Amino acid sequence: MSAFEPLPEDWQRALCIVAHPDDLEFGAAAAVARWTGQGKDVVYCMVTSGEAGIDGLHPDECRGVREAEQVESARLVGVSTVEFLGLPDGIVEYGVPLRRTLAEVVRRHRPDVVVTGNFRESWGGQSLNQADHIAVGRAVLDAARDAGNRWIFPEQLEGDLEPWGDVRAVWAAGSPEARHAVDTTDTFDAGVASLEAHRAYIDGLGWEHFDPREFLEGMARQTGQGLGVAFAAPFEVYPLGWGD
Ligand SMILES: [Zn+2]
Repeated sequence: MSAFEPLPEDWQRALCIVAHPDDLEFGAAAAVARWTGQGKDVVYCMVTSGEAGIDGLHPDECRGVREAEQVESARLVGVSTVEFLGLPDGIVEYGVPLRRTLAEVVRRHRPDVVVTGNFRESWGGQSLNQADHIAVGRAVLDAARDAGNRWIFPEQLEGDLEPWGDVRAVWAAGSPEARHAVDTTDTFDAGVASLEAHRAYIDGLGWEHFDPREFLEGMARQTGQGLGVAFAAPFEVYPLGWGD
C-alpha cells in the first residue's frame, strides 16, 4: 500500500494537455472538478480529436461526435474552454513540431501547472501504454520548459505572445509512479458524469458490462487509501524549477 502526498492547491491556472478526448475522464476529471470548485481556472487542450477511436465509425464522422462529447464532459467539471489541435489520432509523433505546437499553447494560456496523462511505458504491470499518450506527455514536459525560453520557437513571439517560464510543474495523471494524489471524495460524482458523457466512445469500445462508476470507483478507492480519504486521483509530479 503506497502512501500519497496531497498535491498543492496554492495556484490559480491549470492547462490540461492530453492526446485524446476521454483521457482526462479516466480518473483526472474528478480532480478537475475539485479545482474548478475552488475557483481555479482550468483549460483543456486535446492534441487529437480521437477520431480513430471508434471501430465502427469513420474518422470523418467520428471527429465531430467525439469533440462534442469532450466539450460536454468538460462542462460537467466546470471547464468551459476546450481546444482541439487537430493532429492525427493514433500516429502522433514526439518531436520538435509537436513541442513547437504545445509551447505556443502554453505561452497563450500562461498556466501555473500543466496537467497531462501518464506517459510512462505502461500503466503498471503488463498493461502497455499507448503511443500517442507517450509522445504527447514527453512533448508536454518539454514544451512547458520551451515556453519560457525566448530563443526557442522565437517566431511565436513576434506578435503579442511573450515567453512563459512560470510553469511550476507538470502533473501526469494516472502514472504508475505517482507519489501524489488529489482528494476527489466530494467531486467523485462529477467525475463519473464526465466519463459517462463519452457515450458514443464507451459504446464503441464494446466492453461488455462496462460501468463507468464501478470502474472509476475501483481506482479512486485504492488511491484514496494511500491518501487517507475515501476517493482520490493519483498524479506523478515533474517539478520544473531548478533544485526542486
Ligand atoms: Zn487516450
